[in-house]
Amino acid sequence: MDVGELRVALWSRIEHVLLDMDGTLMDKYFDDYFWGHLVPERYAEKHAMTFGRAKELLFSKYKSLEGTLNWTDIDFWSEELHLDIPALKEQIRHLIEAHPHVEDFLIALKKGGKKVILATNAHYKTIAIKMKKTELGRYFDRVIASSDMGYPKEDSRFWINAEKTLGFDRDRTLFIDDTHEVVESAINYGIRYVLVKNMASSRGNSPQGSPNSNQKSNKYLSIDSFSELLP
Ligand SMILES: [Mg+2]
Repeated sequence: MDVGELRVALWSRIEHVLLDMDGTLMDKYFDDYFWGHLVPERYAEKHAMTFGRAKELLFSKYKSLEGTLNWTDIDFWSEELHLDIPALKEQIRHLIEAHPHVEDFLIALKKGGKKVILATNAHYKTIAIKMKKTELGRYFDRVIASSDMGYPKEDSRFWINAEKTLGFDRDRTLFIDDTHEVVESAINYGIRYVLVKNMASSRGNSPQGSPNSNQKSNKYLSIDSFSELLP
């Protein structure tokens, strides 16, 4: 299958469209800057250490929790780091932006009568901050966060619970995500149409060691922009 064939399927037979948030719909520059710069900066201040040392400590913490529910839980991080993570996110909310053509794509999906689902590992507080800033929340029929499903998207049990919750037909479902491990997990579960969104961040690669670096896919079917899927 190529992207052209997938586009045809999308506007003919696909019923459910599940979309990841960070890096897929939204520019991951916000998250990269947040975890790679702002958090280490504040952590260094709080614990009287250099920025470099804070970065080292934090990046190894991030790495050890990647792909777990704790990684996505900003209350966990607030406690763990003794920093008010939601308040820090609010401070840089001006960096929250949707990728180009995302809104056009969501409008087209609604017009096409698709069931549009936000499927994210992000915490509800983060979802709320991002939806408020971008005003994209109105296009979704439903939000499923991994905390509700009990597992992150990398885990097949996320998909079992998502199917129970949404009642989608795997054969008529499209899922789009920027993280290869998550895409792999959806394919293994049997979602028929799965796409990687390239160019997760508008400003190049993620800082080394932070989760979900800005990989470009050769292995999976992928798009650079949502304009490639418009009818
Ligand atoms: Mg993502």
